[in-house]
Amino acid sequence: MRTNLFPVEGEGAAATVEGSEAVGLLQRLLRINTVNPPGNEGPAQELLAETLTAAGFECQFLAAEPGRPNLVARLRGENPGKTLCLLGHVDTVPADPSEWSFDPWSGDVVDGQIRGRGAQDMKDQVAAEAAAAATLGREGWRPASGDLLVVATADEEMGAEAGAQWLCREHPDAVRCDYVLNEGGGVAFEVGGRRFYTLCVGEKGVFRFHVRTQGRAGHASVPALGDNALLKLAPLLERLRSQPPVEVTPEAVEFIYAVSGEELGADPDGLDEAVEHLRERAPEVVAYLLEPMLRVTLVPTQAQASEKANVIPSTAQTLVDCRVPPGVEEDEVRRQAMAILGDRSDANPDAPGREAEEASGVDFEMDFVEHVVGNRSPSGSDLRDVIEGWLAENDPGATLVPIVMAGFSDSHWFRKAFDAATVYGFCPQRELSLLDAAPLVHGADERAAVADIEFAERFYRDVILRVLG
Ligand SMILES: [Zn+2]
Repeated sequence: MRTNLFPVEGEGAAATVEGSEAVGLLQRLLRINTVNPPGNEGPAQELLAETLTAAGFECQFLAAEPGRPNLVARLRGENPGKTLCLLGHVDTVPADPSEWSFDPWSGDVVDGQIRGRGAQDMKDQVAAEAAAAATLGREGWRPASGDLLVVATADEEMGAEAGAQWLCREHPDAVRCDYVLNEGGGVAFEVGGRRFYTLCVGEKGVFRFHVRTQGRAGHASVPALGDNALLKLAPLLERLRSQPPVEVTPEAVEFIYAVSGEELGADPDGLDEAVEHLRERAPEVVAYLLEPMLRVTLVPTQAQASEKANVIPSTAQTLVDCRVPPGVEEDEVRRQAMAILGDRSDANPDAPGREAEEASGVDFEMDFVEHVVGNRSPSGSDLRDVIEGWLAENDPGATLVPIVMAGFSDSHWFRKAFDAATVYGFCPQRELSLLDAAPLVHGADERAAVADIEFAERFYRDVILRVLG
């Protein structure tokens, strides 16, 4: 696995450090700026394609937009069988160098850490996947049955319309698969001296909606002339400090039992209590991982009213970023939002797509601008057994726990396109734990531990051999 030497740059540099192929590949990926927008993923995809082609993969670029290819690399097996897809995206969110203490595109290794935008999200995983696959290919290994796919997408950070969403819709045969490993899980955390690794089995849905109030315009110098819609919006915004009640989900039940040993019945009070018990011992774990799994969340993120400083607004609206557990659909989201915003009893059930609601004297309308139903894979599967078996050997005593990700990933599009596929987020990482890594994702000074990249590379190598024989 240790194949190349690379120089160490930056302050505190030693002479050279020996690293695995994934480490060298990650450094090169980090030095290619793929900030989305605009993405410009071409050069990063070419680097991956070059590495994989030299290892015997058939590589295909599929692009929805010029200069923004998705890479599909296939290593064919000797017999038909199940296909394993190692998935990742090569675009990143922006980085403002003035907020960083080092160059976001340096790719330097300093004190055992690789630095750059994308080192956690998710060029680290892309490099570990591609390096593990390429090493096996170069050794002459081929799947006994089925194919190995390495898929690197564009445009994940801006909705995947030029990435996985497009790829799964327009070229399903190119990426059809039975098992997917993607981002979203694998980062370790510790509670009570025990180590846990997350297995991301689903993503929440996104139902963004506007809450709008109406009034009457007038000159702002004479308040009595108008009816100010903005003042009507204020009490509704205030109500959004509350959130819908917690709900029992299968992942949360398993998570709580694994981490704290508390068994949950059907009683929702029992869930509240179990969450509070765990919060006393591990507040960040509850905040980052458990709470988002438990409920619909409603967060106002934008607001608009009058365009002019001197005009009383006749309409005002706020955009609510609403995330919902997998499988929850619009009717249920509306019901829960109404329970927070006001009494639904006066609602006109016949109003199509939009309703005037009366909430303690405030009329408002609610209309959805985004409807993405979240999805999940079963948390028990033969792929999970492989991951657990690997963990038992490589981190004895550690426990794998299922989570549903609060955010969104390309896993959604693969689950939607391929019903029968088992799609998980898993890239093992323990040197930088959940609490170290979480602030770096989309944050400043993003970096990854060399030891974690090598740990992940070993995992992908072993999982390929165990799934495809
Ligand atoms: Zn990502």
